[in-house]
Amino acid sequence: MRKGWPSCSGATPSCVSGTACTLSTMPYPPRLTVVCLGSGSAGNCTAIDADGTLMLVDCGFSARETASRMHAAGLDPARVRAILLTHEHSDHVRGIDVFLRRHAPGCAVHATAATLAAAGLDQRADTSKVRAGRPFDVGGARVTAFRISHDAADPVGYRIEVGDEAFGLATDCGVLTAEAADALTGCTVLGLEFNHDVTMLERGPYPYHLKRRILSAHGHLSNDDASAALETLAHTRLRHVIAMHRSRTNNTVELAKAALSGTLRRLGHPAVAEVAAQTFVRPCVPMNRG
Ligand SMILES: [Zn+2]
Ligand SMILES: [Zn+2]
Repeated sequence: MRKGWPSCSGATPSCVSGTACTLSTMPYPPRLTVVCLGSGSAGNCTAIDADGTLMLVDCGFSARETASRMHAAGLDPARVRAILLTHEHSDHVRGIDVFLRRHAPGCAVHATAATLAAAGLDQRADTSKVRAGRPFDVGGARVTAFRISHDAADPVGYRIEVGDEAFGLATDCGVLTAEAADALTGCTVLGLEFNHDVTMLERGPYPYHLKRRILSAHGHLSNDDASAALETLAHTRLRHVIAMHRSRTNNTVELAKAALSGTLRRLGHPAVAEVAAQTFVRPCVPMNRG
């Protein structure tokens, strides 16, 4: 076991070490709560409550589905202050127009100028242009976008900080660049793409050009890629890692979980490991109760 990881006496059911979990040493209620409303090529949306400010990263389900999943998680769509878009692919923006109109009319949309244009959102008055490396505030949270390597107009990941907590999200990236790894350094909660198992993808039903695209530097991170990235990103205050954007054709929950948990176990790290689901809400990080 590497020296310096946090030690703790309380176990939770999902704790990969089985004996220790950083959650029991968390401040209560937590200042940062992350709820994955769904993740994968059929839709992506993650809710973040940062000191009472509610925001979404991406809005890739229909408005009705997004609202329904939020209600299931005990979240009020009318409380959403901001939607942060990673890129314009439909599994990330599909529901945004109707969601804003029906559920969150005063909400701001943050995205790079190229993403706004590619998503057809650049004429809206409620948008705010994001630049990689230039932080901005949403309520009490500090948000910083960082460039990722993907076949979209100007895709980004996000780092959301409140107090000494930080959530870093990087999905839809063919490789984790030095810039992205740098932006994710020191995050207490990580959402990392565990898209595919390389063998499953290579032997699977996708056409050759699609396999090449996924495996390219502008495609998606494999279980092995994400595990290697996690080895460099793990640190003493990391408490939760979420495997995201898992392919239902080229990966399984078991393989993604084995890759993630195996990496943490190899490092002797007690962070909690979760695999985000496509079809149901997973409250990856404890909700504020009461
Ligand atoms: Zn995607
Ligand atoms: Zn994409």
